[in-house]
Amino acid sequence: MTIFHCASCGTRLTTELRLLNEVPRRPAYDGLPAEGARRAPATVPRGFYAVDPDPTGAPFVPGEDQDDCVPAYPGGPSINAEGIELVSGGPRDTLLLHPEDMQDLILLSTGEAGCCGSPGDKGPNRGCRCGAPIGTEMSECYTPYELHLVPGAVVEEQAAEAAPGG
Ligand SMILES: [Zn+2]
Repeated sequence: MTIFHCASCGTRLTTELRLLNEVPRRPAYDGLPAEGARRAPATVPRGFYAVDPDPTGAPFVPGEDQDDCVPAYPGGPSINAEGIELVSGGPRDTLLLHPEDMQDLILLSTGEAGCCGSPGDKGPNRGCRCGAPIGTEMSECYTPYELHLVPGAVVEEQAAEAAPGG
């Protein structure tokens, strides 16, 4: 079990979270209100986190194979104004959380434009109350529902496992 703290000011940001072996399959938005909002069900359940081996978020860069580009995520930026197919050139191995497991974050201004939530396509959009960028939330109706932490933005405290049955 792991507790995450802000690397800048030390503020505790989560309760105890358990590491998953892999990123769960991303559920698609089915058009139904999920958890009271127009967005996909969360990729990671509450109380867990995962390490995402794939590049995440901004910057978006031209894909190497222009005939076979996979968008960075469903509905994510996939083509630019010149018709060049884009993929995420963002960091790999980001920590991936349920956004509601870090509820005390402040909104950072990135210039992103969302209709139902945060697209998360302009870089870190959530910060600690001290102002340090902490993560990028994706919570649009066409994106997965995820919080990707900025590499190095948090420090991990290992919490002792509770004894089985008690
Ligand atoms: Zn802080």
